[in-house]
Amino acid sequence: MTSTVYFMDFKATFKDSGIKKLHRLVDTAGLSQCVKNRDLVALKLHFGELGNTAFIRPVYIRQIVNMIKNAGGAPFLTDANTLYAGSRGDAVQHLNTAIANGFAYPVVEAPLVIADGLRGRTETAVEINQQRFREVYIGTEVINADALISVAHFKGHELSGFGGAIKNVGMGCASRRGKMAQHSGLGPKVKEKKCIGCGDCSEHCPAGAIEIVDEIAQIDHEKCIGCGECILVCEQGAIQIQWAKSGEEFLERMVEYTLGVLKNKTGKTLYVNFINHVSPACDCVPYNDAPIVRDIGIVASTDPVAIDQASVDLVNQEPALPDSCLSTHTDAGADKFRGVYPNVDHLHQLAYAEKLGLGSRQYELVKI
Ligand code: SF4
Ligand code: SF4
Repeated sequence: MTSTVYFMDFKATFKDSGIKKLHRLVDTAGLSQCVKNRDLVALKLHFGELGNTAFIRPVYIRQIVNMIKNAGGAPFLTDANTLYAGSRGDAVQHLNTAIANGFAYPVVEAPLVIADGLRGRTETAVEINQQRFREVYIGTEVINADALISVAHFKGHELSGFGGAIKNVGMGCASRRGKMAQHSGLGPKVKEKKCIGCGDCSEHCPAGAIEIVDEIAQIDHEKCIGCGECILVCEQGAIQIQWAKSGEEFLERMVEYTLGVLKNKTGKTLYVNFINHVSPACDCVPYNDAPIVRDIGIVASTDPVAIDQASVDLVNQEPALPDSCLSTHTDAGADKFRGVYPNVDHLHQLAYAEKLGLGSRQYELVKI
């Protein structure tokens, strides 16, 4: 099966601005087919960590918000809390960060709803019965939404090689427990040298899995439910994620989460990837290094696999920018994400997603 991916570049004129082209792109890709009158529509994006400036500009998001409203839907902007202690680890910090980065109501004209609630515990278990997971844990408000519009900033990522629609949905909509399950099947570990025995983690652990023994926290992994709360609570940074050892396994877990998010959304999703400021790392880091290629354009599709494959291909067609971190794989046609992350087989996420029936790597690119 060949899917259609629609593409706009960033060329603009007085008569045909980038904003007009974005409307045409999203319309043509089928927004009105997936949003019906009075649908509650989750517009899933990344608000950017404090200090990062590569995330999608709020002015673009407002256009998509208004298109959803014109189709009869009631949009809200959403993301789920992070696993690590940063500026988006709970809903209060997350909303403050989103507003500081420009996603305030007067700008985006839609409310912000954190998908997994105040502390990342508002989750829904979705049965998928796949190789890595029998069930996955998704931020409840994404499951409650009638439709899902993924708007992803396409860029590099330390663990998945690149982050696009699949990562925006699979990792981005997972609750904290869901994120922990993707990153590590093992639960967190205590770095004893850093622990001062204050007991904060033990007080906050919802599973009663942490005891302080000889002024050191000890985690009972039989009791641990992998919620990640202790990682956020520990001000000493003494509780850390045990990262998945195999990159392939991590990618498969992320793809299975994507499957879980989309399970109740058949015919109710659209994906938009912004391929500009293609930074080598995720918008989760509090800075953004110089982009690896020029700003290319925006793509839209109803197929999350095809849009990510097209986005990878569009990036790889470009020569690397001279002041970027790339020192190998710099020619047009070379694999830029291999150049940044030589040990990550990023294309495995697309192969596995296609195998699970999430979409097709075969696509036709249609320029609007
Ligand atoms: S919160 Fe951190 S420092 Fe305090 S006991 Fe737990 S692990 Fe140790
Ligand atoms: S991950 Fe959650 S359940 Fe496990 S030890 Fe930490 S706070 Fe407790």
